[in-house]
Order: sequence, then structure tokens, then C-alpha cells
Amino acid sequence: MTDWTVRAADYGEFLVTIFEEWVRQDVGKVFVQLFDVALGLWLGQPSGLCLFRETCGDAVALEHNGEVFSCDHFVYPDYKLGTLLHTSLGDLVRGPQQRAFGEAKAITLPAYCRNCDVRFACHGECPKNRFLHTPDGEPGLNYLCAAYQRFFRHVDPAMRGMAWLARQRRAPAEIMTLGVPGRSRTAETVAGASGVKVPDLADTVRACIRIPPETTLSLLYQLL
Ligand code: SF4
Ligand code: SF4
Repeated sequence: MTDWTVRAADYGEFLVTIFEEWVRQDVGKVFVQLFDVALGLWLGQPSGLCLFRETCGDAVALEHNGEVFSCDHFVYPDYKLGTLLHTSLGDLVRGPQQRAFGEAKAITLPAYCRNCDVRFACHGECPKNRFLHTPDGEPGLNYLCAAYQRFFRHVDPAMRGMAWLARQRRAPAEIMTLGVPGRSRTAETVAGASGVKVPDLADTVRACIRIPPETTLSLLYQLL
């Protein structure tokens, strides 16, 4: 930590600000790794980033002299797996020390994270960053927790919408014209510019699955 280290709350606001721009005009045109990973998570797919997987340990660090460590975030003596001079890379990666390293990501997760509503997306992020205490005093909370809670909770309606579109074999980019629940500015903006009424995503979903018109969009996404 330094006095210029980004604060978690600021990072969260940064992510939300960029996401709001992206989801209105850049889906399918500009690819942001975190947003793509998040959509995959909302579709029930495993994270493409080790940070957001329940366990990790599949990407070791290889030094110039042949020494292998558990991860490039953990190039310390305690995390040295061995050397390629004596053991194959496959045996080191599949060995018990490295398997324990990867499983520790899940095993050491504090109760605060286990009960978190966005745990399915965050999984406590990288163990290297877990140096805070939870509100009830348990060690192991990620420094960026506030950022991830803010971001993952904020993107939930849009991610549900894009995931629903993807499951219908439609482009997630349609979210830009159909709108995000609770944030209809996209549809209003497009309608104002074109003079054409743009259907809200809720109307589209209601039409597709024939449910009462009074059902709110938030509830619709819960049902999907
Ligand atoms: S958002 Fe915070 S509490 Fe939730 S899983 Fe991530 S680090 Fe844990
Ligand atoms: S320790 Fe962190 S960076 Fe390394 S593999 Fe695990 S999650 Fe990824």
C-alpha cells in the first residue's frame, strides 16, 4: 500500500462509470475484459480470469533459472514448487503443493464473503489482495471488496438482460436499444433521436413469455 494506491471505493466508481458508458453505446464494439468476464459469469460460465474463480492454481510463474512458483503474485520461497532441472512442469503444476495452493483460495474465504450476494462473481478475488479484516473482525477480506460489491451489484440488471438475450441467441448488444431496467435513458435517447418508439426490454420479454403487463422489469429478470 502506498499513499497513491487507488482506494477501493474510487475503483468501484470508476468501473461503474465506464460500464455505464459501455452498456449504452459500446457493447459488441469495445471489449473490456472485466465486462466480458462478468457476462460469462451471469451466464453461468466459469471465469476466464483466475481472480474470479472459486479456486485457482493453474498458472504458475517460471523464473529464468528454471525455478517454478505457484503464481506470479507469489514468487516467494514458501511458494517455490521446484525446478525444471529436476521435475517436469506438468508434475509441478499437478503436484499436491500446487493443488493445495489453488484450493486455499476457496477454503480461506471468510464468512463475510461466503454470505456475500455477489460471491458467485467475485469469490474473494485474488488471495494476494486479502489483507483486510471483515466488519466482524475475521482476517482475509480483499482490499478491493468495496469496489467489487459496488460494481457487481450495479451491473446485475444489465447483465441479467444481456444474459437473457444471449440465451435467446440474440446479441447482447441489443441491450443498447432495448434498455436497462431502472435506467431507461438509452431507449429514450434513441427514440428521441430517431422519432421512433423504441420498445423497452420489459415489453419484449413480456411479449415473448406472455406474462401480465404489470410485472416489473426487475421481477422479470429475477424470473429469467
Ligand atoms: S465482494 Fe467483498 S464480500 Fe463479496 S465475495 Fe468479493 S471480497 Fe468477499
Ligand atoms: S493467486 Fe491470484 S493471480 Fe495467482 S492464480 Fe490465484 S487468483 Fe490468480
